[in-house]
Amino acid sequence: MIALEAIHKQFGDIEVLRGVSVRVPERSVTALIGPSGSGKSTLLRCVNLLELPQAGSVTVGANSLEFGAGTRHSRAEILAMRRSTGMVFQNFQLFPHLTVEENVMEGLVTVLRWPRDQARAHARALLDKVGMAAKAEAWPANLSGGQQQRTAIARALAPSPQVLLCDEPTSALDPELAGEVVEVLAQLAREGTTMLMATHDLRLASSIASDVVFLDRGEVVEAGPAQSLFGAPQRERTKQFVASLS
Ligand code: ATP
Ligand code: MG
Repeated sequence: MIALEAIHKQFGDIEVLRGVSVRVPERSVTALIGPSGSGKSTLLRCVNLLELPQAGSVTVGANSLEFGAGTRHSRAEILAMRRSTGMVFQNFQLFPHLTVEENVMEGLVTVLRWPRDQARAHARALLDKVGMAAKAEAWPANLSGGQQQRTAIARALAPSPQVLLCDEPTSALDPELAGEVVEVLAQLAREGTTMLMATHDLRLASSIASDVVFLDRGEVVEAGPAQSLFGAPQRERTKQFVASLS
């Protein structure tokens, strides 16, 4: 479960998130849509605390942190929140000097101090799940974009996070390769993975998200079940934006 309450985030004088509240129930998927610059990536980065909000509260499962004037959090609290999340990026961000399998093992071995054999077995199981077992020994540079993203998904899942955050996971891929990634994410959704994903990909959003949040200029304009938000948006701005998606 993810609960964001009244999140404010400013960069200098620019208020990028102006009191955003989003709730992603356990075992469900919410798509975050909105124009470029509306604050989608910033909001995702506020969930794993790559960005610290100036105000509001962030909850992931049993971890909850309040932000506001005078609040300070220990490194341990920030790390606990970060570790309860896994993140997938638009441009994959695999470690180029590590093989597919080593990419997935890396965090388990270096951060969580798992024995290598155990980490390798876990990585193999995850690679099998995303259809990458045959490429375990390959280098990222020799993979298609879809294969790189499926590896990145396995890596994000390796420490068994409570939620998966995806920032435009299919945007860098041509339609066929995007389809492979949608398939993997759809399978995770069916298995009950809790996900919050920013996307411009209507196929991705409408095939796996149960709920949609439309963000514009740092505010939630409209939120609701995917079927009604895509099928019968209420606000004019939402209608225009949904019509522009393909
Ligand atoms: P896109 O669809 O293009 O990915 P987005 O909805 O993800 O857009 P964000 O990346 O969250 O939008 O950016 C929201 C606003 O915050 C933009 O105006 C951006 O320039 C600004 N911004 C984001 N990160 C920073 C930063 N570290 N420093 C200053 N401004 C930033
Ligand atoms: Mg973004």
